[in-house]
Amino acid sequence: MAFIAPAGTPISLRTFSTGLVRGVMQSSIDAQLARALAQHAGHQRCWLMSTGRAAMVLALQSMRDAVSDPRRTEVIVPAYTCYSVPASVIRAGLQPRLCDIDPVTLSMNLEALKNFDFSRVLAIVTANLYGIPNQLDAIEQLAKRTGVLLLDDAAQALGASLGNRPVGGFGDVGLYSFDKGKNITSLEGGALVASNPALTASIEARHNALPGTPASKTAMTIAKLGAYSLLLRPTLYDFVRQLPGLGLGKTKWEDDYPLLKYGRPLAGFTSSLYGQLQSLSERRRANARSLSMALKLLPGLQVIEPPADALPAYTRLPFLVAEPSRRDAIIARLNDAGIGATASYPAALCDVPEVARTLPQSDLLMPAARRVAASIVTLPTHPYCPPDLAARVGQAILSSQ
Ligand SMILES: *Cc1c(COP(=O)(O)O)cnc(C)c1O
Repeated sequence: MAFIAPAGTPISLRTFSTGLVRGVMQSSIDAQLARALAQHAGHQRCWLMSTGRAAMVLALQSMRDAVSDPRRTEVIVPAYTCYSVPASVIRAGLQPRLCDIDPVTLSMNLEALKNFDFSRVLAIVTANLYGIPNQLDAIEQLAKRTGVLLLDDAAQALGASLGNRPVGGFGDVGLYSFDKGKNITSLEGGALVASNPALTASIEARHNALPGTPASKTAMTIAKLGAYSLLLRPTLYDFVRQLPGLGLGKTKWEDDYPLLKYGRPLAGFTSSLYGQLQSLSERRRANARSLSMALKLLPGLQVIEPPADALPAYTRLPFLVAEPSRRDAIIARLNDAGIGATASYPAALCDVPEVARTLPQSDLLMPAARRVAASIVTLPTHPYCPPDLAARVGQAILSSQ
């Protein structure tokens, strides 16, 4: 049977070989990619890293260097986001604080955010999950007004924009990821973009001091990327997902990853795919649009609404099941139909033990994030989705009742 992977970026043989040749032959390919990403975000500078989570640690450490007040040790993160985010905050020696989310948009609840005591806050981190922009203009204004830094986490939102401004370009530092399920991928990798002189000086110094990714590791990543480019195809993915030990789609706590510079040859693949970003995003948006239309015809489901002036990049299409007890059956029927529906991150961050044990009492109750964690389903949007996907999704969900 064919199975449509939950997320991913198709890499044709031609893109793979172009990427390989560029990565191996063009010694300035990493600088070219960095320039393109900085320009994309509307920032002056860009640094490439081994992973997005490593990039986040570097950004937070550099923010700490750049801010003179030593009491500013708290970092506000949305109560529902990738576990790598609070893991990076803790790894940087800082204190995570949680802000509950708005279950309609998945953006931080602005009222809750306004009510924070900002006197010990170093930075706010956005989420832009599934490529849907948060209310970044309002969050940026609040950060400015309260004198805290803003890290615009666009790990899932390269190619998305809000009011014609690129996601990742809001606030002081932007972050992109090139991991497996993101907008474009070299299986591993991340980037920071920034302009503020004090911050860029610190990021630059810290980045210069990092070791490079060992060539043997990069060679292994390239081999895996070759396998990924073949196996993401629906005809082969069904076989892959049943292999034991791959842990596909599992969310696990990880905080001992290395902080390294990006493996330069990987920039060949990422920069080739960056050239396809527009058309990839358009395909994902078109798929998300027809999925949304099908979902809105079904009772008891709520599609996440992007802000009015947003152009989302839709790494996946999320929706909420009004009756959370129906969720497992819905996902099971979709999976039976060969559709990679997933429950996304399994818990609100207040219910992740490694985060909860660091939190003040006030941050342990996040009702909206809990509701989202218990009711969210994500659907694939990548270009391997067949034209009848929306109809098949509708049928599978109807059959789950
Ligand atoms: C994936 C992700 C990260 C971390 O990126 P990696 O490259 O996987 O380390 C950070 N934030 C969000 C929202 C993500 O989805």
